[in-house]
Amino acid sequence: AVDGGENGVNAFLHVNTEQALAVAAEVDAIRAAGGAEAEALHPLAGVPIAVKDLIVTIGQPTTAGSKMLEGWMSPYDATVVEKIRAAKMPILGKTNLDEFAMGSSTEHSAYGPTRNPWDLGRIPGGSGGGSAAAVAAFEAPLALGTDTGGSIRQPGAVTGTVGVKPTYGGVSRYGAIAMASSLDQIGPVSRTVLDSAYLHELIGGHDPADSTSLNEPVPALVEAAELGASGDMTGVRVGVIKELQGEGYEPGVQARFNESLEALRAAGAEIVEVSCPNFKYALGAYYLIMPSEVSSNLAKFDGVRFGKRVLPAEGPVTIERVMAATRAAGFGDEVKRRIILGTYALSAGYYDAYYGSAQKVRTLIQRDFAAAFELADVLISPTSPTVAFELGSRTSDPLSMYLNDVATIPANMAGVPGITVPGGLSEGLPVGIQFLAPAREDARLYRAGAALE
Ligand code: GLN
Repeated sequence: AVDGGENGVNAFLHVNTEQALAVAAEVDAIRAAGGAEAEALHPLAGVPIAVKDLIVTIGQPTTAGSKMLEGWMSPYDATVVEKIRAAKMPILGKTNLDEFAMGSSTEHSAYGPTRNPWDLGRIPGGSGGGSAAAVAAFEAPLALGTDTGGSIRQPGAVTGTVGVKPTYGGVSRYGAIAMASSLDQIGPVSRTVLDSAYLHELIGGHDPADSTSLNEPVPALVEAAELGASGDMTGVRVGVIKELQGEGYEPGVQARFNESLEALRAAGAEIVEVSCPNFKYALGAYYLIMPSEVSSNLAKFDGVRFGKRVLPAEGPVTIERVMAATRAAGFGDEVKRRIILGTYALSAGYYDAYYGSAQKVRTLIQRDFAAAFELADVLISPTSPTVAFELGSRTSDPLSMYLNDVATIPANMAGVPGITVPGGLSEGLPVGIQFLAPAREDARLYRAGAALE
């Protein structure tokens, strides 16, 4: 017995069939009429897309997976949404996520979990489990996700889909509800590397509305994917990150990973080993920096400006008491846990010991990447140490949930891009292989990913 819609997958929080069909009909009419307008259609015109419900949309609700924003409608579109609308891609609806993108299983959604289409008893990863599951279940060919610590790549891995975290600043984040602003990135989710390349080229590029947006053109990603699909990796140095394999990685994951290395070698790649000794501190530093930024970013949910407002059950109605009542009712346990952690880490007297140390670790991780990219053009690791785990098996132990992010977090800490591609099955469940590239070199991910696909 399974709850939720879509044969139990429950990937969508909101579906807007009418709006999507109207756009599809418009594209059909343009194609039928032919001529210059038909010629000018974007290659993705008419291709439906699902949007993670952390990204704001006019005309459809945006909840961030939280009761705090239940029923809230954004008065504006995110820049990426403006771009997919301009390309005439029908927006199917908004996909489920862990509340405010905090989690690795989508079980922290206030609207019930999404289930993995490969096995409805298992999690689809998180926080973007809805986007990944929608694509894996053939409900949508493309989706948008956000990746702060792996929320595009880890769900991609455990659902057998492709997911890309672009270079920090490569895709505008204007209209993505901020989780941890120094780490957040919007990116594509798809079934093939080439599909992600088309979507990434569409949504990427400079946006004056996002002050962290890189002021440079999007790299030639489609071309890189096509080159990779030809299967030729001659001369490409692929660096195996010593610290992101072996102990802690399931044997089935390690086996598929080893086979991927063989496949790349057969395609002409040169496999080298690189060491990133400071990656072992990445998870600890992330779980200080991210909650610190969360505690600041979520302060705007005060019961006054957006969404929910709850009055105190008794006693005087002061601003402080309305704020407290609203947050008590509006935020779930995981969100509260992180806000408390973050405010503690930032408090006077502890700031240097926690946030300050974590920022130093961040620099060390960046140096590890720089050294590794001297020896290799792209780096490779399993995307997640495990295949999809069973629903409910980690919810009571936050640390075990956090451990699932061990391989994805270093990229966010350094701002470098990453991709996950399907790497076969372990006991019937998908295993993901991750490639990482230097900042601005996203094209290398598409070449390597398509070669392995
Ligand atoms: N699992 C990570 C976390 O819980 C993922 C966050 C993300 O990428 N949005 O923080």
